[in-house]
Amino acid sequence: MSEASLLDWARSRPKPRAIICDIDDTLCTGFDCPILTAVKALAALDRSIVVHYVTARPEGSRAGTEQFLADHRLPGWRNLHFCPSWKSTRQHKTEVMARLAREYQVVVSVGDHDEDEAASVAAGIPFVRVSDDTLEQTWAEVARLVAAIVPPESREVSG
Ligand SMILES: [Mg+2]
Repeated sequence: MSEASLLDWARSRPKPRAIICDIDDTLCTGFDCPILTAVKALAALDRSIVVHYVTARPEGSRAGTEQFLADHRLPGWRNLHFCPSWKSTRQHKTEVMARLAREYQVVVSVGDHDEDEAASVAAGIPFVRVSDDTLEQTWAEVARLVAAIVPPESREVSG
């Protein structure tokens, strides 16, 4: 197979589906106090959806963050994207989301901050913003977007 046809083949393959989620003030407050609506919605996601966490947290908070995900049985603990000390959080989020948008079909990005929105929009990813007053609607919207993209017959039952 030539290099060109190999590239064509790679491009024609369907990309895995993913959602991107911010952590602080989206999934939890005060580092590890869960926002229950968010945690429940994420834990209930169809298992065919890959979850990536794009966070302003530094690498040093990995252990605590993994513990939080484990405590609440949240998917995607391998997909934590911490902010390197030499980058601004805006630059970090923008770069990671651009890369994820190439590798995945990103259904939606969820966050609480302008920075999350700017990075998502720049990568061409639909964005929904959480706030205290719109928590239920936001996560219902995420579930709706996911349901629209995952055909019922392909849904994986989570164990
Ligand atoms: Mg946040």
